[in-house]
Amino acid sequence: MSKKRRQTREIEITIRLRVPEGVSFAELERLIDEAGDRAKREALEGAVGEQEPEQPHECRACGYRGALRGKGRTYLRFHALFGEMRIKQPRYRCPVCGEESYPLEEWVELISPGPVTPGVYRLAVLQGIEEDYEQAARTLAESTRGQVCLTGKEVHGLTQRAGQVYLEQRQREAAALSENPDGYRQVGGRPNSLFCVQADGGHVPTREGQDGMEGKIAKMWWDYYRKKQNERPVITEKGYVATFRGAEKLGELALAMSIAMGVTEETKVQILGDGAAWIRQVLWEIYFPWAVYRLDWRHLRDYVWRAVRVMWTDRERQVEQGRRWVQWLWEGQVDEFLAEVRRTPVRRPEAREARDNLVKYVEDNREGMGCYRLWYEQGEIISSSVVEKAVDEVIVRRQKKQGMVWSRAGADVVAALRSLWLTGMGLWERFWRGQPLLVRQNAWMPI
Ligand SMILES: [Zn+2]
Repeated sequence: MSKKRRQTREIEITIRLRVPEGVSFAELERLIDEAGDRAKREALEGAVGEQEPEQPHECRACGYRGALRGKGRTYLRFHALFGEMRIKQPRYRCPVCGEESYPLEEWVELISPGPVTPGVYRLAVLQGIEEDYEQAARTLAESTRGQVCLTGKEVHGLTQRAGQVYLEQRQREAAALSENPDGYRQVGGRPNSLFCVQADGGHVPTREGQDGMEGKIAKMWWDYYRKKQNERPVITEKGYVATFRGAEKLGELALAMSIAMGVTEETKVQILGDGAAWIRQVLWEIYFPWAVYRLDWRHLRDYVWRAVRVMWTDRERQVEQGRRWVQWLWEGQVDEFLAEVRRTPVRRPEAREARDNLVKYVEDNREGMGCYRLWYEQGEIISSSVVEKAVDEVIVRRQKKQGMVWSRAGADVVAALRSLWLTGMGLWERFWRGQPLLVRQNAWMPI
């Protein structure tokens, strides 16, 4: 590889500041801070002013080749990290079609709405996925000491724009990866380690209907660090994917992320869920058919208790039956459990319904059940608490607020960007640098 020497130039930033006698420390801090912002803004203005682009010799509108006519100067306004900027820029006009051209503006590569610099864009998007857009605009103004003053509408527009860019990139890379999974696999892998995939859903209010729409989430991680002694596990390297576009989409994204994290068909994979049909029928059977499916223990236990409370009206009978059945399931005695539940005589229609639903739930999820007690004693994962927390982090905290109403596209963008932000492995950084996402830095690159 040849190293290309880039020409450099020096920009000097000087801060001179007159402070009153007897100034307090807090005031001194504030004065220096403000002076710094001013100096940075002036340096940026000066540097942009020195960047005099050449006179264009081609009109992009009509194809005319020849010098465009200078038409004086206009102001270029935009939001930069150090405040609002107003810079004089040359204007040119095509002698044939009259189209105007602003070469300096093109060099600055501003992003609309705003318009804003790439630095402000990134800040606005990060805030826009944290809080509702109006609040995000206020936080942005406060945290930049009034330097970055955008409207909620502008933060919204910038967030949606970044989301679109991200969704397109994700789609492109997932497609390329499914064409050629070997090109992305980590050399070596971790043959004896378990890879965990947990999935769940969360509803947000929508214009589409009363029940809201469901965002689906998968969180995945290598389990190898978890077995160390009895320490509380800390997941240092994890992948999040989320979508409001259905189970197939989620499966596609989760598989792509898993492959990018080094999973192959030889990897031991555990899919854990609450018993929802899509987790079994789509995520497991279509996208991870070689994985082991496991049903979350707490959902199973709660399902039994809910059924028991409907099947009997007598409190003592409820407790007696509930304890007995939960104990059987904890020990993995599913046959005994099913036989007894099926035989249980019930008269009231709602009791019959509860009984039949319980039988169906256990039958449907049977492959995901076993001796939970043994799994628990061996330190295996029997709980979906990790993904339940993920639903809260990715969807609920940002999207499930009083008075919020989401479009599918708008909700999808925010969930996608939030999962990117929460995913480790430096992916957020890579996205803003315009680098591919489904590779891991240093460890491996596409072949
Ligand atoms: Zn022209």
